[in-house]
Amino acid sequence: MKIINSVEDLRKEIRTLKTQKQGTVGLVPTMGALHNGHLSLIEKCRKENEIVVVSIFVNPTQFGPNEDYDKYPRTLEADAKICKEAGADIVFAPSPRDIYDEYYFKNKETTLVCPPYDVVNKLCGKSRPGHFDGVCTIVSKLFNITKCDKAYFGKKDYQQLFIIKKMVCDLNFDIEIIGCPIVRETDGLAMSSRNTYLTPDARKKALSISAALHRAKELYKKGVNEAQTLIDTALAYMENQGLNVEYTEVVDIDTFEKTDKPKTGALMLIAARVSVDTGEDIDSVRLIDNIEL
Ligand code: AMP
Repeated sequence: MKIINSVEDLRKEIRTLKTQKQGTVGLVPTMGALHNGHLSLIEKCRKENEIVVVSIFVNPTQFGPNEDYDKYPRTLEADAKICKEAGADIVFAPSPRDIYDEYYFKNKETTLVCPPYDVVNKLCGKSRPGHFDGVCTIVSKLFNITKCDKAYFGKKDYQQLFIIKKMVCDLNFDIEIIGCPIVRETDGLAMSSRNTYLTPDARKKALSISAALHRAKELYKKGVNEAQTLIDTALAYMENQGLNVEYTEVVDIDTFEKTDKPKTGALMLIAARVSVDTGEDIDSVRLIDNIEL
């Protein structure tokens, strides 16, 4: 497995591997601090492609000014080990200067890929203006750089998966987008690189997110098909545990539009903030999760 930093070297290596292996290129885009959720994507990619590229890049254009770009965990050595054991061919770990040009660093602006307003300005996009423009921009760049045939995304970030599929359709990328199931800890907490910010006490509170989703699904299975009732139940449960809930919504899985009477397979999504008392100051960690009803 090779660890590559520059776009030029990556292009060269993929060309070489293509002549040797003659098959499809699969891409797993990540921001690193890899866990078993990421690993499941890499393993699926390994099974379905001859050439496997994992990108590790904390992308500045998808972070807002007051978000955790600077403190986001960067653990390249451990990540590379995980990728190697999973059989990746290449880890692409560029620096921001390998990805964005001088103009960007001077003017804080670059050419962006911006999905339609109504698609990005809800759920996570509402509290993170510009986030999905940054995501679509970096993913487009990675598609162009790797010329991959397939790309793997987790359903943990379901709105992101939906938006990437829309972008691929709207911009005619000849790439298959594969959505992969959410990987959870044994107690139900969705795996996330941001879980590393949680103290034991905060982690206990964070558990109420997946528990609330499971409660709502149980209710739905018992015949409660009013979205508002499911939302109220989940909200009450989380607020009772001291969470600051940003949104709880139920959407149709094909359109990502709100639904009052969810059909089987509709998606319930939650974003919530858990406060973390580090002893020195109190921070809040934003976590997301979802479940198919
Ligand atoms: P990130 O490094 O957070 O940008 O995530 C990279 C990819 O891994 C995204 O497609 C995520 O949706 C996916 N991912 C993150 N956590 C999980 C999880 N717990 N289960 C499945 N996929 C995940």
